[in-house]
Amino acid sequence: MSDFSPTDYWKGIVLYGLNAATYKMALGRVLLDHARQGSNTIEWAQLASDFLDQYRLRLDSNPMPQQANRARRTVMERICGDLASGRITYAGAVKKVSEDAFNDVVPRFQTIGTDKQIAGSLFYEAHFGKRLVLTDELLTISDTSFPELDSELTARWNLLEGAFAISQSQQEYQLANDIREIYLASGYDRKPLTHNIQFLQGYQGNTCFYCGQPMDGKIHVDHLLPRQVISHDEVWNLVLSHGDCNLQKGDYLVGPHFVEKLIKRNENIMGSNHPWKQKIATQLGTTPRRRRSKTERHYENMKSVLGRYYWGGTEGYNPATDPFYTRLITVLNNR
Ligand SMILES: [Zn+2]
Repeated sequence: MSDFSPTDYWKGIVLYGLNAATYKMALGRVLLDHARQGSNTIEWAQLASDFLDQYRLRLDSNPMPQQANRARRTVMERICGDLASGRITYAGAVKKVSEDAFNDVVPRFQTIGTDKQIAGSLFYEAHFGKRLVLTDELLTISDTSFPELDSELTARWNLLEGAFAISQSQQEYQLANDIREIYLASGYDRKPLTHNIQFLQGYQGNTCFYCGQPMDGKIHVDHLLPRQVISHDEVWNLVLSHGDCNLQKGDYLVGPHFVEKLIKRNENIMGSNHPWKQKIATQLGTTPRRRRSKTERHYENMKSVLGRYYWGGTEGYNPATDPFYTRLITVLNNR
């Protein structure tokens, strides 16, 4: 674990949030703001009013989807609703936040996935009901990477609200459409990825990743784990496919057999002397076991955000007859 930087831990916390996920984003933003101003203590009342302000800012531009169902409103939604309608004053709202909103998020913010030990108290020490004491690590990352971490929080918050809306929907096609809208709305830079084609063809073969049939016509470069969640264009997550297959997959989460195939494809790269293999080693790990476990962890994370709707592949695709698995390099690199 010691080869991870505080920034890695921060990203882990932001990306692997489970429960009360938008609370995590709001607290993250308050922490970064304070750290950037160089303050190393946040008194409880200040914490409550800053936290409330984050939600109010949010509501101005983007009503939270959970509000559609009154019975399922969160504590913060109820407080913001009462404040907006004049049932309580701002001071009253701050008091309620300080009493009711932090029970989960303050003790659990530094939990990555379900692991409380990994990050420990890396970014703050909580004196519950009194104050948070920020650490040097937090002050340092805020100083060096504030714009990046801040925009990641925003993207994540957008995405989570979308994911909550989706989880209330019963129809699978709705999932793809909503996600696509979030993707467009949040305005990710879509960089051209075609320069990866030649490289990837070597290790994947000249067949479509999703259907196993030979490539013809325009080759598409696709993010196996959806771009709007994974938020990068790293080569370990890129695959080549037919345009049609790419379109069918859309922003769905793929079935586990495609993750298995991705792991093997990446081992093909690792078995080579191509200089890009270093990038994969840095991102996924230096041994096959670490790379597998890191890839699988990303996949689990996708499930927690996107739900368990899988796209199993084009009709008629059968991994058992996919020529990829019988290629020499696949066999050699995955013994
Ligand atoms: Zn195809």
